[in-house]
Amino acid sequence: MRILITGAAGFLGSHLCDHLLNDGHEVIGMDNFITGSPDNIAHLAGNEKFSFYRRDVSNYIFVPGTVDAILHFASPASPNPLSKSGYFNLPIQTMKAGALGTHNCLGLARAQNARFLIASTSEIYGDPLVHPQTEDYAGNVDPVGTRAVYDEAKRFAESLTMAYHRFHNVNTSIVRIFNTYGPRMDLEDGRALPNLLKQALLGQPLTVYGDGAQTRSFCFVDDLVNGIVKLLYSEEHFPVNIGNPIEMTILQFAEAINKITGNKAGITYVDARSARDPQRRQPDITRAHDLLNWEPKVDLEEGIRRTIPFFKQKLGTT
Ligand code: UDP
Repeated sequence: MRILITGAAGFLGSHLCDHLLNDGHEVIGMDNFITGSPDNIAHLAGNEKFSFYRRDVSNYIFVPGTVDAILHFASPASPNPLSKSGYFNLPIQTMKAGALGTHNCLGLARAQNARFLIASTSEIYGDPLVHPQTEDYAGNVDPVGTRAVYDEAKRFAESLTMAYHRFHNVNTSIVRIFNTYGPRMDLEDGRALPNLLKQALLGQPLTVYGDGAQTRSFCFVDDLVNGIVKLLYSEEHFPVNIGNPIEMTILQFAEAINKITGNKAGITYVDARSARDPQRRQPDITRAHDLLNWEPKVDLEEGIRRTIPFFKQKLGTT
């Protein structure tokens, strides 16, 4: 297939490029680098099956030749208000990438008769009242809350995707991505794993927000990408959760990072990020298991060990 990936220079986009090139496809990457990095795709320069366009998907997109599949992964994604690359500081771009960007990609998919896959998110469940989250749970999102620019953009993107499927018969799919970590995360984006692993490798105390009792379920990037690619190759149109169902508190997560890295500096408790920090998050992956025969394989310790070399290289501590 000839596959367009938007957000190709991002954390997930770049891993998808690698995986799909390895599967023998031709990949066209697109990114405007507002949160992605050229470093993430530098190793693909010279690969004759890879081409790259520096574009903002919020504007009309054009790709010469045919396209068989489009994966729309372009969006800021970090919820940390302190991060320059987080969606708090890129609110309009975030809404445009989810709304106009999705519209442009769907238009291209329709014109090219291509399979379309939208990167959605566990954030569409908001601060969930149903636990674990199944795909039929409609969510608990405040449209004017502090996370709304991301949550509502992704909810709109899902609605638009289903409209193109139902009205124009476009071959669409929706992946709801839960917390994911691994090499090529932006060390400065303020999310839990980059913050805590960076602190641990520098011998600093780990900043746990609030009392650390809020939970997340962390998936290693290779597992996540395997699931997304299985969804791409399937015929499924309705949303599928992809994530690791092993739930832990943020305090347990921080303690695990200190243990694995041998960091003796402990934990420091800082103010809770916001009242809207979701308190519990865990994917129900029954649909992914039944439809795609997928489940994660990499446990937290192995995943963190596989992430450390990248962080050390970026920190210059190797
Ligand atoms: N968190 C933390 N310390 C940090 C960064 C994040 O305790 O230095 C917490 C944060 O409050 C949230 C969880 O870790 O409860 C996951 O945050 P992240 O930014 O990774 O993404 P989210 O899951 O909220 O989208």
